[in-house]
Amino acid sequence: MKRSIRGTHLAVAFIVLAMAAAPAAEAHDWGCWVQASRTVQAWNNSTMKAEATAAINDWNNNTVLSVYDVGYHTTISVFDGYFGSTGWGGLASIESSSGCVITHGHARVNLSYNPSSNAAQGIFCQEVGHLFGLTHSNDGGCMGGGYYYDIGTYPGYSVVQHNIDDIAAKYANLGYSPTTSPAQPAAGAPVASAMWNYRPTSLQDAVANADAVVVATVTGVSAGPDLTMPVGKDDVDRIPTQRIAFGVQESFTGDLEDEFALFHTGNAKYILDEDGPYQAGQTYVLFLTHRKDGTYLVSSPEGRIAVTSKGLQPAAEDGFTTALKGQTLAKFSASLKKALRAQDEH
Ligand SMILES: [Zn+2]
Ligand SMILES: [Zn+2]
Repeated sequence: MKRSIRGTHLAVAFIVLAMAAAPAAEAHDWGCWVQASRTVQAWNNSTMKAEATAAINDWNNNTVLSVYDVGYHTTISVFDGYFGSTGWGGLASIESSSGCVITHGHARVNLSYNPSSNAAQGIFCQEVGHLFGLTHSNDGGCMGGGYYYDIGTYPGYSVVQHNIDDIAAKYANLGYSPTTSPAQPAAGAPVASAMWNYRPTSLQDAVANADAVVVATVTGVSAGPDLTMPVGKDDVDRIPTQRIAFGVQESFTGDLEDEFALFHTGNAKYILDEDGPYQAGQTYVLFLTHRKDGTYLVSSPEGRIAVTSKGLQPAAEDGFTTALKGQTLAKFSASLKKALRAQDEH
C-alpha cells in the first residue's frame, strides 16, 4: 500500500533548494548496484520480526518501490542471529547478481550486540536500503545511522525524505517489470556493507576504546571458518572470514606480542565496503580490541589506516580519519602519543 506524498510537495521543494545550495549533495548510490525493477520480493525471517517488518514497511510505504513479503527465501532475505563479536551490528550482502542487478541479497542484524528495538529496526532499515543500491548518507535517517549519529534515536532508524528522493532518482527509469542492466560492477567492487557496532568519532575516542594500538605489517592471509546461520528450514547463510597474520613494527599501547592474528569478515571475493581484503606486505596503523578466541578485531574501518608511500590512507570513507589522508606516519605518531598521554592523565 502506498501513502500519498502529495502533501509533502512543499517540504520536497525546500529540500531540493537546500540540496542545490549544498555542495555535498549527491545521489547516494552504493556502487552501481540496483534492483531489477520497482517491485522487490522480500522475506522477513527475523526473530525481531516487528522491527524488521517496520523497516520493510518504511521503504514500501514511503518510496516508489513496492516491497512485499513472499514468505520464502527470495531477492531480499531479512533475518538476524548471534554472529558473535564480529565488529558489525548489521551486514548487507549481495549473494548473487547479474551485472549491476542484485538478484539475491541478505540483510542481517547481529543480535550478539544486543540492539535495542529501535536500533534493530534502524539496522534492518539500513541493510535493506543497501540492497536497493543506496550507500550511507548523512541525512538524519537510517542510511546514516551508526555512522553519523545514533541509529536507535528517532529519526535515525527510519526512512527520511532524502532516501525517498534517492530511490526516486535511482528508479526513475525502472518500472514494475524486471529489466536487465548491461552495466557491470567495477573489478573488486564491494558486495557487502557493514553497520559497525562502534565507530569512534575522534582520535581520543579511538584511543579510549582500543585494547591496543600498533603499526603492523601483514605477513599472511588465511581462510577462517565461515560464519553460518540457518535461513528458514532448508538454507544456510554463509559469511566467509579470514585470519590476517601481522608482525608488529611499533606498539603505542597494549601488550601485544610480536605477532598476532586479526579476525576479518570477508575474503578476496566477498569484499566489504571500507574493509576490503588485506595483502601480505601491507602496513597499517591498527586500533584493536581483543576477541575471546585470542584473535583481534579492528572494531570499525576508523581503526584501519594504511601506511603507504603516499602517506596514510584511511579505510573509512568518512569520519574523523578522513583528515589523516596523506599525512606522514611520523606526524600521526606524534598526535597519537599526545592522545595517549591525555588518556593516561584522565
Ligand atoms: Zn539467501
Ligand atoms: Zn550500512
